[in-house]
Amino acid sequence: MTPNLSNPSVIKEILSRHGFTFSKKLGQNFLIDPTVCPRIAEAGNAREGYGIIEIGAGMGVLTVELAKRADKVVAIEVDHRLIEVLHETLADFHNVKVLEADVLKLDLNKLIEEEFAGLKVAVCSNLPYYITSPILMKLFESRLPIESITALVQKEAGVRLCAPVGTRESGAVTVAANYYSEGKILFNVSRGCFMPSPNVDSCVVKFDMRKTLPDVKNEEFFFKMVRGMFTQRRKTTLNAICGSLGMDKVKVTEAMTEAGIALNSRPEQLKMDELIALSEALNR
Ligand code: SAM
Repeated sequence: MTPNLSNPSVIKEILSRHGFTFSKKLGQNFLIDPTVCPRIAEAGNAREGYGIIEIGAGMGVLTVELAKRADKVVAIEVDHRLIEVLHETLADFHNVKVLEADVLKLDLNKLIEEEFAGLKVAVCSNLPYYITSPILMKLFESRLPIESITALVQKEAGVRLCAPVGTRESGAVTVAANYYSEGKILFNVSRGCFMPSPNVDSCVVKFDMRKTLPDVKNEEFFFKMVRGMFTQRRKTTLNAICGSLGMDKVKVTEAMTEAGIALNSRPEQLKMDELIALSEALNR
């Protein structure tokens, strides 16, 4: 029988039997509120016809809810000590593959090809907070054939990721998220829902991947420009671009004028179409 992974005494018993202690370094805050995982699974497309990639399975509390609903789950976990735990807690589920790996080093396109033939694919995860942005950037930039990414993230990160481009909260990761997907915050999750409890609150975000991406001729330059601009976000766009990309002030001034962007604007004020117009003009 599947153990109740929302019950702290059950969790402690299993973990102590396996000699496991939580690693702060790996962002190990396990969900213990019984209502959160079913909500993530339902919102995250875990249903018939779907294969789900879970990043950071922990001891499997979310994996169980995904496996109950989807055709197949690949649960990725980097911590070797948790692999045995997962084999125990997920013993009743024959549609789960536990994969011991660092998600940042995995070829996810290959994984999808090998594990999910004939299925639609979605990512569902309670992400390790210390690498939220690198993981999401990898998921976006790998152009995976996935429908959506549903993730539990630190609240501030969720706000930044889902902010409209051109507002105070927006940054380079906002532009990337918006470029590849339509993101929204689904619901908040308080720190008390985790064991051990982190010192920040969280939220669940969902990114529906765009079928058609914005029309940008030189994507590599576009993202280089965006990353550069936002590392100097307090400066004017003009100075931020000249400083970060080492470009000539006259050339940048001309490009900004051509793109219809005020010379005293700040990077965070630029909307997506303005960023695209600027990158096209700088590229000419
Ligand atoms: N899914 C579980 C839950 O909701 O209780 C655990 C979530 S916990 C926030 C994040 C998990 O990601 C931890 O189990 C941690 O060991 C794992 N993790 C950390 N870095 C990882 C990486 N680079 N690749 C795969 N898993 C990772």
